[in-house]
Amino acid sequence: MTDQPTSPTPLTSMSLEDAHTSGVYPKRALTIVRGQGAYLWDSEGRRYIDCVGGQGAANLGHAHPAVVAAIQNQAATLISCPEIFYNDTRAALLEKLTTAAGMPRAFLCNSGTEAVEAALKFAKLATGRKHIVAAKRGFHGRTMGALAATWEPKYREPFEPGVPNYTHVPYNDLSALEAEISDQTAALILEVVQGEGGVRPGDGEYLRAAQALCRERGAMFITDEVQTGFGRTGKLFAHQHYGLEPDLMPVAKSMAGGLPMGACLIGSRVGTLEPMTHGSTFGGNPLACAAALAALEVMDTEDLPGRAAALGGWMLERLADLPSRFPEKVREVRGLGLLLGIELRNKVAPVLRGLQERGVLALPAGVTVLRLLPPLVISKDDLELVAQAVEAVLTQSV
Ligand code: PMP
Repeated sequence: MTDQPTSPTPLTSMSLEDAHTSGVYPKRALTIVRGQGAYLWDSEGRRYIDCVGGQGAANLGHAHPAVVAAIQNQAATLISCPEIFYNDTRAALLEKLTTAAGMPRAFLCNSGTEAVEAALKFAKLATGRKHIVAAKRGFHGRTMGALAATWEPKYREPFEPGVPNYTHVPYNDLSALEAEISDQTAALILEVVQGEGGVRPGDGEYLRAAQALCRERGAMFITDEVQTGFGRTGKLFAHQHYGLEPDLMPVAKSMAGGLPMGACLIGSRVGTLEPMTHGSTFGGNPLACAAALAALEVMDTEDLPGRAAALGGWMLERLADLPSRFPEKVREVRGLGLLLGIELRNKVAPVLRGLQERGVLALPAGVTVLRLLPPLVISKDDLELVAQAVEAVLTQSV
C-alpha cells in the first residue's frame, strides 16, 4: 500500500508541532498529509483505511468533490457575513437543514460543544429553570456549560467549581430519571448512542419514556446528535430510529462535510428567543453554509444513512463472534450503523498500534473500547480488511 512519498520531511512536522502545539492532545507518531474517500496517506506515502473518520467529521469521505466545489465557489463569492444581515446561502441551508431534521428553527455555530452550549442556554431561557440532568458516561464537549454535562470526572475536576446545578444519572435507567427530573429541571440531555463513553446504544423504550417524562414535567428533551448525526447510525439523525421528537438537538462534526460547523436545531416547545440572548461571530458564515448545503445533498443522493445501516449491520455481524473466539480479550461487540465498538478486557492502546501497523487507523472510546468510525462511503471490501486486521491483532498479541 505504498505510493509516492508526498513529503520528504515528516520529522519536521512532528518536531514543529511538538515544539509549538498546546500539548492537550495525545499524539500518534504519524503525519497525515492527504485524504480521499475512506483513505488517508501519511508523509511517507503509506495508505491507511480510515476508521477515525475525522472523529466523526468525515462521514462523506475525504475531499468529497461536491463539498470541494461548493467551498471553492463560495470562497470566491463571500466567506464571512454575520447574522445581522440576511444571506442567500444561509437561507437555503436553514431551510434544507430544518426540513431534514423536522424541526422548525436552527441556531448556527462552529463546533459540537458550541451547539451543546446553545441547547443548554435555550433550554434555560425557554423554561426559566436552571437544573440540567445528564447521563453517566455521557460526553457533550469541553466548554464550561457542555463540560458540566460531560460525565468523565477527569475532564471536569481540574476546572471545578464548574457550572452549578447539573446532575448525572445512570444511562438506560428510567427510574433514575423519574427520581431526578423535577419541576425545577430545565433539560435532560442525552446521546442516542453514547459515543465517547464507550459506544453504548440507548434503549428505544428508555429514550421514548425519557422524552415523555420531560414533557410531563415541563423540561426540554435534548438529544445530543453531534456524533450520531448526519447518517452515522443508519438514519440521518439517530433519534429517528425511535420516533423521538427532541426539543433541542445539537449537531456538528460532518454537518459541513468536514469544515468546522455546528447547529442547534430548535423544536416548537422552545418559544421565541429574544435578540442578543446568544450569538456567534462566525455562526452561519456563508462558506460553512455552502459546504453544509452540499453535504446534505450528498447525504441524499448517495443515501449515506442507508449505506451506514447496511454496511454497519453487516460489519456488526461480521465481528459478532469475536467474544466467543477471543474470550480472554473481547468482552462485547456493539453499535448502531457505522458507529461500532469492540469492548476489550484490556487496554485498547496496543490494539490501536497493531491496527496502525496493519494500515488501519481507529479510535478508542474510553480505555478499553475500540471504536470504528469510518467514512460512510467506505467499501464493504475495506470493512472486510478492517475486520481481518482486528482479528490478526487479537490473534497475535495483547
Ligand atoms: N457531543 C458529542 C456527543 C460528541 O461526541 C462531541 C465530540 N466528540 C461533542 C459534543 C463536542 O464536539 P466538538 O469537539 O466539536 O466541540
